[in-house]
Amino acid sequence: MVPRMLALLGFANAVAVVALWLHGGGLHDEPLTSLGRLTGLLGAYLSLVELLVLARGPRTSAWHRWAGHAVLWLLIAHTVLITTGYARSDDSGLLAQARRLIEEFPGVITATAGLAILIGVVIASALRRRLRYETWYFIHLYTYLAIVLAFSHQLATGTEFVGDSVARTYWYALYGVTLAAIVWRYARARPLRVERVVDAGPGVVNIELAGRLRARPGQFFRWRFLTRGRWFEAHPFSLSATPDGHGARITVKGVGDHSRGLRDLRPGTRVLADGPFGGFTRAARRRPRAALIAGGAGITPIRALLEEMPGDLVVVYRAPRAEDVILRDELDALAAARGFSVHYVVGGDRDGLLALVPDIAERDVYVCGPPEMVDAMRARLRAAGVRRIVTERFAL
Ligand SMILES: Cc1cc2nc3c(=O)[nH]c(=O)nc-3n(C[C@H](O)[C@H](O)[C@H](O)COP(=O)(O)OP(=O)(O)OC[C@H]3O[C@@H](n4cnc5c(N)ncnc54)[C@H](O)[C@@H]3O)c2cc1C
Repeated sequence: MVPRMLALLGFANAVAVVALWLHGGGLHDEPLTSLGRLTGLLGAYLSLVELLVLARGPRTSAWHRWAGHAVLWLLIAHTVLITTGYARSDDSGLLAQARRLIEEFPGVITATAGLAILIGVVIASALRRRLRYETWYFIHLYTYLAIVLAFSHQLATGTEFVGDSVARTYWYALYGVTLAAIVWRYARARPLRVERVVDAGPGVVNIELAGRLRARPGQFFRWRFLTRGRWFEAHPFSLSATPDGHGARITVKGVGDHSRGLRDLRPGTRVLADGPFGGFTRAARRRPRAALIAGGAGITPIRALLEEMPGDLVVVYRAPRAEDVILRDELDALAAARGFSVHYVVGGDRDGLLALVPDIAERDVYVCGPPEMVDAMRARLRAAGVRRIVTERFAL
C-alpha cells in the first residue's frame, strides 16, 4: 500500500515538473533548447527520487540501477540538446557554443563537474564486483556532491528558477524534503550496547545487544560499532532472533576484516542500528505451506523467521562444510518444538536441493544466502512453478 502511494506521489510530482516547464514557456523557445530544459528538469527530479527512495533503505534493486542510468542519460541529453539548441539560435559551431556556455553562464562549469562525477559513479557501479565494497561505497557517496553541483547550476542558470517564483518555490521544496529525508535517515539510528559476544562455531559469533529495537523477523539493520577503527563503517547484518523489547541478537560469520574483528567487541560498546530494512519477512497473503532455503550465513534471518512463521514448514540448509553449519542446536530445538523438518546439505551441488521438497510448487519459498546462490535458486524455483519467492541476497 505504502509503496503504491509513494509511486503515485512520485508520478504526480513528475507531472508537476512538466506542468511547471509548460508554464515557464514549454516549447516556446528554440525547440531543442526547450527540450533540453525539460530533460534537465526530469533528470534533476529523478535524482531526488533516487535519494528519497535510498533514504528509506539500502537498495540493490533493478529499479535503483534503472533510475541511475536514466538520470545519467537525461542529463547527457540535457547537455547535448541545450548546446545544440543554443548553437542553432546563435548560428555557431557546437564546440564554440560549448565554450561560450562554460565561460559565460554561471553554474555550467559546476554542472559539468557534477555530470562527470555521475558518469564516474555509474561506471563504478558497473564494476561493483571488481571493486572493494568500501571503494564502491565511497565513490557512490559522490552522488551527493553531483546533486549539490547540479542544484547550484539550476539556481544560477535554470530559466524555471530564475524567472518563475512558483517553480522556484516548488523546486526549493523538493530539495528541502529530500535533504530532510536524508538527515532523518541518519538521525533515527537507534543506540544500543553490546551485552555479550558468544562463540557460535568456527569463525562465527552471536552478538547480543541491549536496547529497544523494533523490527519484523527476517529484517536487517546496518550496524555501526562505535569503537576506534570501526565507527566510520556500517555493515548490514540480519537479526538472528526476534527482538524482545529489551534487546536483539545478530549472528556474524567472519569473512573479512570487519566481520572477523567483531569477535573482539567488549561488552558495553555503543552501537548505532540504522533500519530496519528489507522485505525478507512473512508474506502478507501467504500459502499455508512454506519452504525456507538457506546458503551459509543466510540461515540467520531464517532462524528469526522460524520463530513466528505458522503453517507447514520445511527448511533446507546448505553449507560448504560441516563446520560451516551455524545455529544448528537452535534450529533443531525449534524444529522439534514446532514440528517441522530441517534438511542439512553439506557440499554437493544446488540441483539436488529442490528434490528434498517434492511439493515445492505448492509452497511459498524463502531463499537467503550469497547472491549467486540466491539468483540461481530463484531461476530454478521459477522453472519448478513456484509462484511466491521471497529473497535476501547477502551482499549489497
Ligand atoms: C542484507 C544483508 C544481510 C546480511 N546479514 C548477515 C548476517 O546476518 N550474518 C552474516 O554473517 N553476514 C551477513 N551479511 C553479510 C555481511 O554484511 C558481510 O559479510 C560483511 O559486511 C563483510 O564485511 P567484511 O569487511 O568483514 O568483509 P569484506 O571482505 O570487506 O567484504 C565481503 C563482502 O561483503 C560485502 N560488504 C562488505 N562491507 C559491506 C558493507 N559495509 N555493507 C554491505 N556489504 C558489505 C561486500 O559484498 C563484500 O564483497 C549480510 C549482508 C546483507 C547485504
